[in-house]
Amino acid sequence: AAKPRIVILGAGYAGMMAAKQLQKNVGTDRANVTLVNKHDYHYQTTWLHEPAAGTMHHDKARVEIRKVLNPARINIVQDTVQHVRTEEKKVILKDGDDLFYDYLIIGLGAIGETFGIEGVYEHSYHKWTLDGARELKDQIELQFAQYQNQENQDELTFIVAGAGFTGIEFIGELTDRVPELCEHYDVPREKIRMYVIEAAPSALPGFDPELVEYAMNLLEQRGVEFKINKPISEVQEGRVILKDGEEISANTIVWATGVRGNPIIEDAGIEANRARVKVEPDLRAPGHEDVFIVGDCSLIIDEETERPFPPTAQIASQQGVKAAENVASMIMGGTPTAFKPEILGTLASLGGKEAMGTVKKRKLFGRKAFFMKHMGDNRNLMRLGGLPLVLTKGRNPI
Ligand code: FAD
Ligand code: NAD
Repeated sequence: AAKPRIVILGAGYAGMMAAKQLQKNVGTDRANVTLVNKHDYHYQTTWLHEPAAGTMHHDKARVEIRKVLNPARINIVQDTVQHVRTEEKKVILKDGDDLFYDYLIIGLGAIGETFGIEGVYEHSYHKWTLDGARELKDQIELQFAQYQNQENQDELTFIVAGAGFTGIEFIGELTDRVPELCEHYDVPREKIRMYVIEAAPSALPGFDPELVEYAMNLLEQRGVEFKINKPISEVQEGRVILKDGEEISANTIVWATGVRGNPIIEDAGIEANRARVKVEPDLRAPGHEDVFIVGDCSLIIDEETERPFPPTAQIASQQGVKAAENVASMIMGGTPTAFKPEILGTLASLGGKEAMGTVKKRKLFGRKAFFMKHMGDNRNLMRLGGLPLVLTKGRNPI
């Protein structure tokens, strides 16, 4: 009989861990495994606020896929997925031939959510990808570089839309970099304005209030102005308009108001909400016994709170492993089993050696939180590529 064809879409946290697990569990004699990704590298989405602000070189945040997967065991295809046709069990690529599958694992990640607000995609930096981060870094530097040549030396203003974890982590890095940029480009520090604009009645809504206060105090001391309880209702070239009518002009607008799943999900006709599929306990899409959805394209419910888990790399990686185990068991005649996420905690970096968050429900602040965050990053690198990867891309926890 022909070997089953397993196709994985996306080399993010979910897709890479699925490929790693299949490489280990399923021999080339038992299945053909193909991984499709837009680039020949995987990037650390969870680090992107750093290259975006320019506090890390973007090369550090990427890993060549062939360095961590074995091309003799996984067929690595660099191409852009354009459509998934579940009825014909095929994937349509931008350049290459259609790919047919017996089992599909979709891990195409997320895009920025706009909630229908006009002008976001046109006038803000909203792409949390490696290319998006590099573009934002160049824009920031350009604004500083042009400053001395402007006739009108007005304020240099940055707006971050959304005080979720992405917005907070990014502004943390930006505040860390601003003194260096001011010095390099001879821009007086008092000319820099940084706003974080948040719709909810609190920054990091739902997170521990003591930790939120710690983060806000620290960022305010570095010059950030928070506008809380102020939903943005429109973005125009060089300014945002708030629901209460206030308008704020800015040279750079960074969008971080949350995510929706990859548009390919909706195009595929798989039932979804904001392009995220509420998957069955075994991670399959409802009504599709051969399609697994993992990472930010999936949605799973936290039984404790009865609300969806926030989409994280932590969950994406675990889902990738589980989906691969389930596919492996199905091709050997077994049945897939339920996914149970293990939440270790949430840590947010705040720029420099500052961070805060929880580990196993314990609150951590400052250097301790920073240490734990970087140790977590190193642990993930270890899982992905072993010691060689930790030695080349690892983080200094102290
Ligand atoms: P991703 O890791 O985003 O990967 C998707 C992959 O699919 C990419 O390689 C992309 O190139 C590829 N792709 C997309 N479209 C196509 C296409 N059409 N064709 C081919 N390939 C395609 N989570 C945490 O748990 N901890 C953190 O500290 C944390 N920090 C974060 C910081 C930032 C700045 C951001 C933006 C997010 C952070 N997150 C964090 C969330 C976390 O990054 C995501 O939940 C996680 O990346 C989701 O993993 P994924 O595998 O679903 O998608
Ligand atoms: P988020 O949903 O966590 O936060 C978005 C924020 O934007 C919310 O506070 C929301 O109230 C606000 N917002 C929404 N509409 C708005 C509007 N019109 N005007 C102003 N504010 C508005 O999204 P995120 O920060 O992009 O993060 C995406 C996912 O990635 C989340 O699940 C998050 O937990 C995860 N993440 C985790 C970490 C970490 O663990 N360190 C870091 C970054 C992201």
